[in-house]
Amino acid sequence: MTDFAGKNVLVIGGSRGIGAAIVSRLSADGAKVAFTYAGSREAALDLAASTGSEAIRSDAANRQELIDTVRGRGGLDVLVINAGTLVLGDALELDADAIDHMIDVNVRAPYHAAVEAARQMPDGGRIIVIGSTNGDRIPFAGGAAYALTKSAVQGMVRGLARDFGPRGITINAVQPGPVDTDMNPADGPMADTMHSFLAIKRHGRPDEIAGLVAYLAGPEAGFITGSFQTIDGGFAA
Ligand code: NDP
Repeated sequence: MTDFAGKNVLVIGGSRGIGAAIVSRLSADGAKVAFTYAGSREAALDLAASTGSEAIRSDAANRQELIDTVRGRGGLDVLVINAGTLVLGDALELDADAIDHMIDVNVRAPYHAAVEAARQMPDGGRIIVIGSTNGDRIPFAGGAAYALTKSAVQGMVRGLARDFGPRGITINAVQPGPVDTDMNPADGPMADTMHSFLAIKRHGRPDEIAGLVAYLAGPEAGFITGSFQTIDGGFAA
């Protein structure tokens, strides 16, 4: 556990899965946490009630709505950008609008949220983006566009680390492998294929990802920036 008492935290995309685990972990560690959601109102309100956090409806694919939400939180000590979508399938068949929406949520939103947060963030603040091990490795067909979005996160993290470093603000990507969520259920049709790529042959748990996020958000991680912290059961090994 890290003591986040008095820390002002915003999680972009926190209603379900990995984001919800991050909201739970940082709330339990004492932070004042707000999180956004787009479609899962009931899950968001339940999570807010059970953790003492604040749920804000804000679509990360809507640039102005996203920027207004980040600006409205004032000086954030920690920004976690978790919202993401996954579109897999034959590149020649996939719907172009679905691909562009994924790029909006997975690439454009992290960039605009990080830059907007940095305007008011105090020195020593923390920005953490949930990327993916698929930013490094995509060992099956049908994942080109998703991999594109997660590789793009890497370039952003490298560059913004240079921009914000003089203020002691760190920015890092956490790169999970398969994690048991609605996006990638441990009992889903892709599970056996996923496990074949792993050294540790199981899905990760959302709380395992949240633990790494808490470390990067905490006081011991002030010298880690511009990095990709892979937590993938050996998927990319
Ligand atoms: P889920 O689909 O289980 O949850 C996605 C979360 O993101 C939900 O809270 C959802 O909120 C939110 N979200 C999605 N679109 C938007 C939007 N437009 N605006 C605001 N919030 C949004 O996914 P995971 O928890 O599995 O994934 C979280 C992150 O981790 C993603 O970036 C994903 O790419 C990454 N990741 C996941 C892996 C996995 O195996 N699960 C592996 C590697 C990376 P709502 O339902 O309210 O819209």
